Amino acid sequence: MSHFETDAIRIQNRSNEREHSSPIYLTSSFTFESAEEARAMFADEIPGNIYSRYANPNSSELIAKVCAAEGTEDGIATASGMAAMFGSIAALLQQGDHILASRSLFGSTHQLLTRVFPKWGITSTYGDISDYLNWEKLVQPNTKMLFLETPSNPGLEIIDLEWAGKFAAAHNLILVVDNCFATPYLQQPAKWGTHIVTHSATKYIDGQGRVLGGLILGKQELMKEVQFFTRHTGPSISPFNAWVLTKSLETLAVRMDRHCENALKIAQYFEGNPELDGVKYPFLPSHPQHHLAKKQMKAGGGIITLTLKGGLARAQRFIDQLEMISITPNLGDSRSIVTHPASTTHSKLSTEERARVGISDGLIRLSVGLEHHEDILRDVERAIEKSK
Ligand SMILES: *Cc1c(COP(=O)(O)O)cnc(C)c1O
Repeated sequence: MSHFETDAIRIQNRSNEREHSSPIYLTSSFTFESAEEARAMFADEIPGNIYSRYANPNSSELIAKVCAAEGTEDGIATASGMAAMFGSIAALLQQGDHILASRSLFGSTHQLLTRVFPKWGITSTYGDISDYLNWEKLVQPNTKMLFLETPSNPGLEIIDLEWAGKFAAAHNLILVVDNCFATPYLQQPAKWGTHIVTHSATKYIDGQGRVLGGLILGKQELMKEVQFFTRHTGPSISPFNAWVLTKSLETLAVRMDRHCENALKIAQYFEGNPELDGVKYPFLPSHPQHHLAKKQMKAGGGIITLTLKGGLARAQRFIDQLEMISITPNLGDSRSIVTHPASTTHSKLSTEERARVGISDGLIRLSVGLEHHEDILRDVERAIEKSK
């Protein structure tokens, strides 16, 4: 395969119309030349589109591009990131199985593991990222899957993917990594022995806050199980959303370069600010797992956290003083976005539970956008001053 940038632009399902940009295939089903061709396609004897719940040229193009980027064999695209998280677990596990997961997980993934899967007899145990070298003791005889997120949301903790690949192989576990924060441009978990890579394509892959989408990618034999599950349970992505996401992939590399460049400049600028208890960014040498971030990521990503002195009230005053940066739950957008996890995304957790995943009351998550870094910086600086 060619370089990331080239594949993301040049992989294309060109039709007989010789179009330059891919069209949107708004069709529920596809036609057959004969009864025999219909029979053979349903029997998987010959390839071809049958019905858009199974596959559609737009979702196939999206999957081909992301597989090239991640170094995975096959995949499926789903209507949202959560459909991908759910599908990757539900398709591969059964009643009585157990999941070992990192405690710092996306909020809805936490709900899946603690409220949804237990209804079907699939249980899970959390391990602390700060202690992952001691996770041996958390493996049970029925543990079948290791589910990780790195960098984590919003604590930006990093797990050693090389360690994770070896740990999963030693215990015969299916290793699933939610690669949403890093994107395949910055990190390819499959290189380190990850079996299944999942994405919320809603974030950086779209990158402009327009559509929802998700991806499950991995080895062919596992993807066969996942495809069976999704074909018959129906979390398919719409052709329109898949089309938006394939076009977005064409600019992912240049966008990520700028997100990372802006984020690093802002993190460096605010580090040591007397109004802050800390600035966290994977590519700052002060990050506790800086060496790991350097080892497995091409750059530090677009998310930084700032911890304001003065706790919850100060954090809320700070947000109210921002003039440009948006207050909204999304991330990975061209527009800079601020979130206060303790009062929003992680408000259902107790103070102790939040502390265990690195969320203090003064913590602000900043998704650094593509505006000029000086304008982002000025907005944050002004709000820090005015919230005193
Ligand atoms: C947003 C997000 C998800 C869920 O994706 P949706 O597209 O919102 O369903 C899962 N994991 C992480 C890390 C996310 O940031």
